[in-house]
Parts: sequence; C-alpha cells; structure tokens
Amino acid sequence: MSAPPLYFDHAATTPLDPRVRAAMFASLDAAPGNPSATHAAGRAARERVEEARAEVGALLGAPAAAIVFTSGATEADNLAILGAGRARPGGHVVSLRTEHRAVLDACRRLEREGHRLTLLTPARDGRVDPAAIAAVLGPTTTLVSVMLVNNETGVIQDIAAIAAECRRRGVLLHVDAAQAAGRVPLDVSVLEADLVSLSAHKIHGPVGVGALYVRREPRPALQPLLVGGGQEGGLRPGTLPVHQLVGMGAAFRLARISGPAEAAALGLLRDRLWSALADLPGTYLNGHPTARAPHILNVSFEGVDGEALLAGLGGLIVASGAACGAESGEPSYVLRALGRDDALAQASLRFSLGRGQTAPEVDAAAAQVREVVLRLRSLAPA
Ligand SMILES: *Cc1c(COP(=O)(O)O)cnc(C)c1O
Repeated sequence: MSAPPLYFDHAATTPLDPRVRAAMFASLDAAPGNPSATHAAGRAARERVEEARAEVGALLGAPAAAIVFTSGATEADNLAILGAGRARPGGHVVSLRTEHRAVLDACRRLEREGHRLTLLTPARDGRVDPAAIAAVLGPTTTLVSVMLVNNETGVIQDIAAIAAECRRRGVLLHVDAAQAAGRVPLDVSVLEADLVSLSAHKIHGPVGVGALYVRREPRPALQPLLVGGGQEGGLRPGTLPVHQLVGMGAAFRLARISGPAEAAALGLLRDRLWSALADLPGTYLNGHPTARAPHILNVSFEGVDGEALLAGLGGLIVASGAACGAESGEPSYVLRALGRDDALAQASLRFSLGRGQTAPEVDAAAAQVREVVLRLRSLAPA
C-alpha cells in the first residue's frame, strides 16, 4: 500500500477544473446545433461560442474578434509562423533555441520553404537581451517569435521591449503564451504582440483546444493552414467544437478572476520547494532567479544519474531533463542552450505546480527528492 503519486507536472497538462467540466457538459446537453447554421439551434450554439471567445479575449484585454480558435497551442504556433511566413515569402525569421518544438519546427519548415532563419541563444539565465534581437533584424526580416514563459524553466522574456524593437522595424511579433495564461499578466496592450498562441489544457481547461490572438489594427495577413468552410474568418475552417470552446472560455474566465491570487500562492509554494532543495550541495536552479513564472521550478543535481533519479522518485509525477526529450532520447535542448552539460541537463527535474496544490505536498516532494539524491550520491560518490 502506498499513497498515490503527487502530481508536479502541470506544465505538461493540468487536471480539468470541475467547474470547467460542468460548463462543458451543460453545453453538450443544451446546445446540439452547428454554430455555423442559421436556425435557432445554430444561433444558440453560436452564442456560446461567442461568449467563450469573449472570455478568452478578456484575459488578454483583447476584443473577441481578435481570437481565432484552434486545436491547441501547437496549431496556433503553426498558424502564426507558417501563416505569417507564407504570406511573406522569402523573408527572414528570428526565434530562440529555447522555444517550444511547435515553434522551432514551424520555423525550420519555413527555412526549407526558402526563408532565412536566425535562432538566437539566450543568456545562461535563459533570458534574451532585446538588443540581441534588434541586432539581427534586417530589411528582409518579416517575423520574430519569442515565447513569454518558457515551458521547461519558467523564464519570462521581456516581450514589451522586444515588441518595441519589432515595431520600429515593421516586423511582426509572435508570442507563444501557452504557459503564461493565468500565471503572469498577459495584456496585449502592454505586450504589443501581433500574434499570441494560447492553450486551454495548461490552465485546467480541456485538452485539444487553443486559440491564436490576431491583432486587429493593423491586422497581419496570414495564410490559413487548412481550406474548407469559412469558419474563423477563413483562418481556421472546420465545424467548431462548441463544448471544447465553452471549456476553454470557462478556464480563461477562472484564470482572469482568480489567476493573480493563485499565481501568488503558487509562487510561494515554488519558493518553499526551492528552499527545501537549495541547501543540497551541487544543486542548481535553472533559469533566471526572479524573471520567471510562479508555477515552474527547474533544478539540476550534480553527481547523480538522470534516469536513476527519475526511477527513484516513484511517488512523484515530475518531468526530467532526460524525459523532456524522451522521444529523441536526448537531454533537454532548452537546458543545453542555457549552457548545462549533458549530464547536468539529464540530472534535472522540472516541478510544475497547479490549482489546489498544498504546502504538505510540496514538503513531501522535497523530502523524497532529497532522500533519492543523497542515496544516489552515497552509492556513487563523485
Ligand atoms: C503545451 C505547450 C504548447 C503546445 O500546446 P498544445 O495545446 O498542447 O498543443 C506550445 N507551447 C508551449 C510553451 C507549451 O507549453
């Protein structure tokens, strides 16, 4: 008999909030119509879609009309980067080596399609100097893509300063904000981004739904990824999944109402976890010490094997620098870009916190990690 493992992987996905689930099921029962249809059932479904669109926009301080629903942040990243790039053939695209795979792979696709690609390496603390971005912008640069909150380290980029450089040059700015919603301020009138990717399942909404914010004035031209019906202004054709959109709207509404208080509470738990680990010798915080989102803590442990570390932590659900790149079998490319060597990148853990997490859970997690790290080190002294 053992207690169920403690969940510390909210940056990968969050449990569905029961209030969100209730709203989704209510809409499934009450609104069977196709929101594109002109009959009463269609209108009822459309009303729910538009309410959800307004809620998603509200978290960004944006009008509902700026929100294009997608299947998630991956699709939003693809629509932003491929859509903006293909509408401006032969241009120059700038991004960071620490971006999410959905951004990096879309940028590399553009490169194969004849665009020039510059991938910048951030400083060792994970932040990019806006001046370093300004320095590579040229007359042919069409698009810059920089995430607001990094999904492995939690590092926050200075998007407003990067946006100012882009605006000066007439360059579009795309921001992957999948980890930012509900955790850090996300007002597009402050960030001044042209395109912002969002996901529902990172903030206790349903998986399989997201959105792309597309600035209204000036409205950047985008080439859609799909062709078909004219939904979403022709940018994302296909029958809208009403219950999914209702779920995203409900999750974003909760994030708008309770996000700031929740973020403050998660930040205290994150600090509590770090305090409980930091005095172990050979323990390093990955990413900037202060410019980071409250829900992510990424730590490397010197002198332990990454796989043994993860294997020893049976009571914890946590991501590792080895497992983050599990599909490729490579250590985390994000931690490598921050200058960590292979061994240290492998021997790292990403703890990510979410709604309802408690201090006793954090204390229990820290105790397990300490025990396993010390045991592994005593077996194989450095
Ligand atoms: C999760 C995540 C994505 C992908 O979002 P999906 O909705 O799962 O497709 C993209 N970017 C970042 C930063 C993420 O954390």
